[in-house]
Amino acid sequence: METWDAIVIGGGAAGLSAAQMLGRSRRRTLVIDAGSPRNRFAAHMHGVLGQDGTAPLDLVARGRAELEAYGVAWREASVLRVDAHAAGVAVTFDDGSVENARALVVATGLTDELPDVPGLAERWGTSVLHCPYCHGWEVRGRRLGVLMVSPHQVHQAQLVRQWSDDVVVFAAIPLDPAFEHRLRARGVEIVTDAVTALVGDGTALTGVALESGAVHPVDALFTMGAARPHDAFLAHLDLDRTETPVGSFLSVDATGRTSSPRIWAAGNVVNPMANVPLSMGAGALVGGAVNGALVEEDFDNAPAVYWEGRYADRLWSGTPNRTLVDVVEGLEPGRALDLGCGEGADTIWLAERGWDATGIDISASAIARARAATTRARFEVADLGSHRPAGDYDLVTASFFQSPVALDRARILRDAVARIAPGGRLLLISHAAPPPWSTHAHAHGGTFLSPGDELAALALDPSEWTTELAEVRHRPVTAPDGTPSTLDDTVVMVRRTPRP
Ligand SMILES: Cc1cc2nc3c(=O)[nH]c(=O)nc-3n(C[C@H](O)[C@H](O)[C@H](O)COP(=O)(O)OP(=O)(O)OC[C@H]3O[C@@H](n4cnc5c(N)ncnc54)[C@H](O)[C@@H]3O)c2cc1C
Repeated sequence: METWDAIVIGGGAAGLSAAQMLGRSRRRTLVIDAGSPRNRFAAHMHGVLGQDGTAPLDLVARGRAELEAYGVAWREASVLRVDAHAAGVAVTFDDGSVENARALVVATGLTDELPDVPGLAERWGTSVLHCPYCHGWEVRGRRLGVLMVSPHQVHQAQLVRQWSDDVVVFAAIPLDPAFEHRLRARGVEIVTDAVTALVGDGTALTGVALESGAVHPVDALFTMGAARPHDAFLAHLDLDRTETPVGSFLSVDATGRTSSPRIWAAGNVVNPMANVPLSMGAGALVGGAVNGALVEEDFDNAPAVYWEGRYADRLWSGTPNRTLVDVVEGLEPGRALDLGCGEGADTIWLAERGWDATGIDISASAIARARAATTRARFEVADLGSHRPAGDYDLVTASFFQSPVALDRARILRDAVARIAPGGRLLLISHAAPPPWSTHAHAHGGTFLSPGDELAALALDPSEWTTELAEVRHRPVTAPDGTPSTLDDTVVMVRRTPRP
């Protein structure tokens, strides 16, 4: 299955900005969007430098067109669930399909749960507003109302006064006397009669109907909905959250990363106060942070770096591989090459048995330990991905030559096969299955090889090669918890036809 570098859920201001950074960073990126940006109710957007007055859906369409130039893929769909694992995330769609990625950006915004007042929802974004910075200029100097349904609107109620001298607060909750005093001191009227409906012509507002039967004239009404972030599809991951006066939001660090190392979040889904420019900024920051994390990981996974890290501490018990010993013991010594020899136990055993043995490994630390252990064998530090061994050999061995990072194993083995002299052999010992105590798909490099897999990858000419061994052997080991267990090893040995 294809694995994206990054999936961005949400194609609004935050998600598009993150995707633009990722696309321009040559990251294979998929944006998934359900097509309902929070500001879709408004005809025009303000407070967005260079885009003042642009229709919200036009900005999204332009952003989407820009992303196409960078190869960012787009899917109109809803995400139902995200699962995270050590190497990435799996994203499940509403149709049951799944996409995988190394990193995830959540930019799904929020829903404003509006006060339940007849006539309010249909005017949301036109004459019922929440943000004076977005729409205050357009109603400046007019008759403005503030419907206070929450104590968290104290700031909003004061703010609106900046845009008009004619402000009325409809107090649906009890107000603190000191706050009432402040409002009145700046000429703000306070109405405590309950609001029953909004009245007006279409989406235009002319007044607020009160329980007393009176209609208080206003041209626009500011209020606040409860913020419900769109993050239910992450609920089972139990990510850290921050409780705020306006709701519970995913916690993110300064780079937008959540408590899951593969998941970042930006925009209204984590910050209800973010307008379009702030959401864009947060998205751009997260896009860069995700690319930066992937860059680090790409370097960590460069084979030379990865294996040097694995051999930072001594790994080897000094004991040669039991299967190799069993199989090779009866063979006439000659020239032997041990591919991916690590700290050299097998190579050293071969040398001690009279073989002219050479071991090659990518890790300088491992080879230094092998060289320190014997002078009877030759060792080379080389990346077999680019270095092709020279010489002719009577035996080429590769034991557990499997890797969780890039390794063109089949090509390397075919090159080695070409170096085997007539009558010589190739012996492959590989992990056939994960250890019984680990169901982790990445155990032992994530690739498990049957004898059939090995032979198919070698694609040897049957007129020139004979298969001497092709089987799975069970090796007794001690499990990490100290109990006896077994590991399954695939053992394949092929022989080039001797010269007549
Ligand atoms: C009425 C109104 C007017 C506004 N006017 C302005 C303004 O003039 N200027 C300004 O700066 N700000 C304005 N805002 C604020 C602005 O809407 C937000 O700042 C901005 O939309 C936040 O961007 P975002 O990318 O975080 O979320 P959004 O723009 O809401 O985008 C989130 C996207 O994620 C998608 N999504 C959600 N869940 C899923 C899922 N499970 N699977 C797939 N996709 C999903 C949604 O469909 C949506 O397309 C306004 C807000 C409102 C309510």
